[in-house]
Amino acid sequence: MKYFAGIDVGSTAIKVAVVNEDGIIAGVHVAPSGSLFHKNSTDALHALLSKLSLQREDIHYLIATGYGRKLFKEADDSISEITANAIGAHEVGKAFGGVRTIINIGGQDSKAIEIDATGSVSNFAMNDKCAAGTGRFLDVAARNLDLDLEELGDYHFNSKGAPLTINSTCTVFAESEIIGLLANGHGKEEIVAGIHYSIAKRTVRLTKRVGIENRVYFDGGPALNKGLVAAIQDELQRELVVPEHPQTTTAFGAAILARSEFLAEAA
Ligand code: ADP
Repeated sequence: MKYFAGIDVGSTAIKVAVVNEDGIIAGVHVAPSGSLFHKNSTDALHALLSKLSLQREDIHYLIATGYGRKLFKEADDSISEITANAIGAHEVGKAFGGVRTIINIGGQDSKAIEIDATGSVSNFAMNDKCAAGTGRFLDVAARNLDLDLEELGDYHFNSKGAPLTINSTCTVFAESEIIGLLANGHGKEEIVAGIHYSIAKRTVRLTKRVGIENRVYFDGGPALNKGLVAAIQDELQRELVVPEHPQTTTAFGAAILARSEFLAEAA
């Protein structure tokens, strides 16, 4: 059996996906990016290979994507994360009846992508200038609140009153605002809900710039946070399609493309 891999070298996390020659996913792996992008990417790839009992030679084609893709020299090819995300979401979205709009929130940026019926990108909008509205904002907030990222969802749903309004649009100022709210006796639950709604409002504004068509797919690490999912659904006034492994859609898209490029060349 031949295998193909996609590696998404993100600002915050490295994601690896391996598919077999039928295009079926064999496994995924997520590891922190750290500061040594090349070494950590190589380690992440080998960690997944060893988990799958595969050798490097079993991978016939490997495509890198993501923020740090140029630093991963082992790849056979590289593509933008927007293209890889579109391919992955189009493929995963088939099980949900097809998706045409993608919201991706990553560690340092957020994107809205519109795809056509074949999965090609027809429009996109990106926020990479400001950490507000990204995973970084959640990481900083969780640290200030002394919470693990995995706890944010439960805190959101345990919020009793109306979510607090977080006015600061800058992460550094938001940090002081959160500390101020705690000092004034506000509950962590209401603060967490306020943070989620603040990100949700920004995300919806970004998504409206590309237009909202058909089913909306939400991916990237922050899509693991059910509280954020609920806040975006509320602001968007529609259900989101959230896959089982939202953080690895882009790596999966790169792996799917690696397989099709290899098969096309072989043919
Ligand atoms: P990038 O591709 O830019 O590296 P990712 O899509 O990997 O970004 O997302 C990274 C972000 O995902 C982190 O900054 C963090 O906020 C969020 N995240 C990661 N794991 C979890 C989790 N288990 N629960 C909630 N959020 C998470």
